[in-house]
Amino acid sequence: AKDAVRVLVTGAAGQIGYALVPMIARGVMLGPDQPVILHMLDIPPAAEALSGVKMELIDAAFPLLKGVVATTNVVEACTGVNIAVMVGGFPRKEGMERKDVMSKNVSIYKEQASALEKHAAANCKVLVVANPANTNALILKEFAPSIPAKNVTCLTRLDHNRALGQISERLNMQVSDVKNVIIWGNHSSTQYPDVNHATVTTQAGEKSVRELIANDTWLNGEFITIVQQRGAAIIKARKLSSALSAASAACDHICDWVLGTPKGTWVSMGVYSDGSYGIPAGLIYSFPVTCEKGEWSIVQGLKIDEFSRAKMDATANELIEEKSLAYSCLS
Ligand code: NDP
Repeated sequence: AKDAVRVLVTGAAGQIGYALVPMIARGVMLGPDQPVILHMLDIPPAAEALSGVKMELIDAAFPLLKGVVATTNVVEACTGVNIAVMVGGFPRKEGMERKDVMSKNVSIYKEQASALEKHAAANCKVLVVANPANTNALILKEFAPSIPAKNVTCLTRLDHNRALGQISERLNMQVSDVKNVIIWGNHSSTQYPDVNHATVTTQAGEKSVRELIANDTWLNGEFITIVQQRGAAIIKARKLSSALSAASAACDHICDWVLGTPKGTWVSMGVYSDGSYGIPAGLIYSFPVTCEKGEWSIVQGLKIDEFSRAKMDATANELIEEKSLAYSCLS
């Protein structure tokens, strides 16, 4: 039998955490034959709720779940973890300035970076979900210099999946037949959902999304806005932010990263920029990636038109601003 993999979930008593931990324990993230030990971290005010989540995990009697650590101690939570899913973060409350939220999260991510650096297993893979996700991930990377930059990523897979969902709804086709959309940039409303390289498998073979939808006004306008604003639409409808889709996307992200992307398919991940596509190096930016043997690589050589260029640069510029805001919070 395989050795158990230790998976950390921070903010585990929150609503994404509550949707995510049973998926991990059921093998959705790492596969149906991979035993797991869950490490759940939350803050002291959430400790009792966290112990309730642990009770439910025990009650669910998941065959793959070989242990549960539920703690408010960052060091205990990070010790020996192979995968870290960082969901905990300070939420933006009404009346709060962007800088105040940034300042709270930068200090959380700085502290957790040190704990991961010192106590996580070698080669630990990190996925940041909490907002501002790209910049939290960048801070984590900066304050955990011994963790390779390629091991620190942020979640844009939910945006990617939302784009696939919108295309399949529009065409009335299966979402599993749509692939290769791209989310460029920040996990914020400046993200750029790009369908220029996306395709659909039809009975007549592989067709481009642009050819099948043939409505540039929709693809260059409403489609982009729907994907960018989908989170807000869910809050309006549910009176709570998206949780099951965020948890599912986090599983997809880690699953593809660890087990590989299917041949001919790429996915979107927020990764440390190497300057590809003229995006400044040193940002965590969402790119199209393929994964093999536990490593991602940015898909190269895609043609970028002027419309895309402007949107890719705008979201990069927002990340440059966030980075300098984050650093100003640290000094
Ligand atoms: P959620 O579980 O709903 O969300 C957690 C984080 O994920 C938030 O930062 C949220 O950002 C972010 N997020 C990213 N993408 C999405 C998405 N698509 N949809 C929704 N959220 C998204 O929040 P809860 O408040 O229920 O839970 C947070 C947990 O974190 C709590 O248990 C709390 O105790 C803990 N916490 C931990 C801290 C720490 O570690 N020091 C500090 C503060 C809280 P956004 O806010 O923009 O929705």
